[in-house]
Amino acid sequence: MAIERTLSIIKPDATRRNLTGKINAKFEEAGLRIVAQKRLHLSTAQAGKFYEVHKDRPFYGELVEFMASEPVVVQVLEGEGAIAKNREVMGATNPANADAGTIRKDFALSVGENSVHGSDAPETAKEEISFFFSGLELVG
Ligand code: ADP
Ligand code: MG
Repeated sequence: MAIERTLSIIKPDATRRNLTGKINAKFEEAGLRIVAQKRLHLSTAQAGKFYEVHKDRPFYGELVEFMASEPVVVQVLEGEGAIAKNREVMGATNPANADAGTIRKDFALSVGENSVHGSDAPETAKEEISFFFSGLELVG
């Protein structure tokens, strides 16, 4: 499997509870390398643009408000099959359905406040990484 990069976001419910380090440890234990990382407080407009793909879903307004409510940590993870591997480490969207040991099982509060975002495919990973990072900021 090829070395890939994927965009990860540690969401406000997790930064608020000081879980950045514990979540990063799960990425590193799974063999994912954090090759870029920064803490941001997104505006509503920025969060709305990032999640534009979901604009017709009933939870869009709530999601955008949540993502802009407090700081997030945006990061690029690198490794073999990083996109799928990160989705495995994250666990299912709804923590009630997430496997034991996943980030969402261990830390998520609800289907909305579910601690992490991860890109779902190579094309979205590329777009999402360039939404937050310039090439100079990716240090592999
Ligand atoms: P994932 O983050 O697992 O890729 P989606 O792309 O389907 O999941 O949804 C994006 C985000 O929208 C989720 O991570 C979650 O924060 C929120 N979300 C998804 N479904 C719901 C829902 N039914 N109610 C509230 N928020 C939701
Ligand atoms: Mg998604």
